[in-house]
Amino acid sequence: MDRDTIRQKIRARLDAGTLPRAVPPLTKAGTAPPTTPSASIQADSAIGLARCAGCDDAGAGVTYRYPDGSIVRFHGRCHRIWEEECQRA
Ligand SMILES: [Zn+2]
Repeated sequence: MDRDTIRQKIRARLDAGTLPRAVPPLTKAGTAPPTTPSASIQADSAIGLARCAGCDDAGAGVTYRYPDGSIVRFHGRCHRIWEEECQRA
């Protein structure tokens, strides 16, 4: 899948509200020391199985955990496109 196709998918999902428009906050006031991230990018142990929230293909290796417990996974490439689209919004 080419980059423009992925970008269009991600943009449509942002518009539809099925993808969050913001990267998770890295700190959560009051519940953790400021240096402890409440959400982080990390290697996923399920790599190879995890489905990408951007392009729907398996093998997503970037995982975002939001403070509310929801998880969004991307390929590295799709993640960068998502970030760009978030900033554009
Ligand atoms: Zn992807």
